[in-house]
Amino acid sequence: LWVTFEGGDGSGKTTQAELLRAWCEDEGHRVVRTREPGGTDVGQTIRELVLHHRGDIGPRAEALLFAADRSHHVAALVAPALARGEVVIQDRYLDSSVAYQGAARSLGAEEVRELSLWATGGALPDVTVLLDLDPVAARARLDADDKPFDRLEAEKSDFHARVRDAYLALADADPERFLVLDATASAEDLAARIRERVAPLL
Ligand code: C5P
Ligand code: MG
Repeated sequence: LWVTFEGGDGSGKTTQAELLRAWCEDEGHRVVRTREPGGTDVGQTIRELVLHHRGDIGPRAEALLFAADRSHHVAALVAPALARGEVVIQDRYLDSSVAYQGAARSLGAEEVRELSLWATGGALPDVTVLLDLDPVAARARLDADDKPFDRLEAEKSDFHARVRDAYLALADADPERFLVLDATASAEDLAARIRERVAPLL
């Protein structure tokens, strides 16, 4: 079973992915907990490259580097874990690229989706949890947590509004795969909704 978490910066993906991991392990399942960008050693190098050179890497190079990370991540980590019958719980996957590079950086949602599918041989998660949050609320949350906030700091607010709209459009187009949740709900409520969706698939 492969579950990905999506949503803007500060939407609570990591918190919910961790809660789901703990629950799946309590239920007796083996879990691989991972993320993109940066789920492998190669990916970690790509993540640092992109995040440290944000100002001077163009959007197409950025999209290709994220796609390279994804290709290696799926081949080296995700696909083998799924083949062993393990549960893969992951922060971000191709929907992040469609929303950030495709929509917010205006490369085109369809083109970026095709690039990702080519990179991974068409691999898609069983469930994608979208933690939907207004970017203004996300910003307040990150400020309150005193977290370093990469893109949320660097980009204007309309960038994050485009990310959010793109995510919602993706979820609308694929209601079978997506579970859309209002990220302002409590962590416990969100975790319960996610367990409800995942439990029958385990
Ligand atoms: O969520 P995470 O902390 O891993 O993301 C790191 C940074 O990279 C964030 O600022 C996120 O907005 C950005 N990112 C991006 N395009 C992606 C994935 C992440 O711009 N496809
Ligand atoms: Mg995060």
